[in-house]
Amino acid sequence: MIIDFHCHIGKDIEGEEYSLGDLKKSMDKWNIDKACIFPFNNSNKIMIQESLDILEKSKQEPWIIPFLRFNPNEISKEELKNLITKGFRGIKLHPSAQEFEIDNNKFSWIYELCQEKNLPILFHCATKNKNSNPLRVLNIAKEFPNLKIVIAHFFGDDLSLMEKLKDYKNIYSDISIYARTLRINHATYKHNFKNLLFASDAPYDSQKVVLVKINESNLNEEDKKLILYKNAEKILNLK
Ligand SMILES: [Zn+2]
Repeated sequence: MIIDFHCHIGKDIEGEEYSLGDLKKSMDKWNIDKACIFPFNNSNKIMIQESLDILEKSKQEPWIIPFLRFNPNEISKEELKNLITKGFRGIKLHPSAQEFEIDNNKFSWIYELCQEKNLPILFHCATKNKNSNPLRVLNIAKEFPNLKIVIAHFFGDDLSLMEKLKDYKNIYSDISIYARTLRINHATYKHNFKNLLFASDAPYDSQKVVLVKINESNLNEEDKKLILYKNAEKILNLK
């Protein structure tokens, strides 16, 4: 079993396009079984509509794990409550594209709701943007100890987190974009951080490239399985 925790489909506001068919072709080519899928960056309205389209498709195609993407600045409690009853398996939020601070109190109600519904949140993280700084995630992880939080892009490229996150059982990191083989090995063995997730950020990187990184990181079989699917199954309640 292999689960890719980070894939985009649809159309980006700047023109990037990737279809469900394109993704499926890659999945079949590299023997990847399931994928967490959400829209690219766009207006709140379009992201919600595209999320609903992905959810609809997932009813016929069980390899699709549908995630909801929206703009926290523009969504009402009623709207979000209604959306998450529809069957999404997780939430994707992008603090720099949607211009919001992860740990600003005004978004606490969203985290509270996701914690209550047992819905994981995948945050785009990167040190180069102040809104997306992964250290902000640590603040909400303390406040919501049962909320499952995934930091995208290998600790958002802040490698000091490899050590810091050991004490946060509810935080995971995907390995898209910024992971390298030695970094994956060090996170796993030097820092004993086992909450890593296979993720490509397709179409921004090739699923195959990320699989090669995992296979070339000198991991034992059990640790490889954690990254390829066991952690994802746990977060997504697939078992
Ligand atoms: Zn992404």
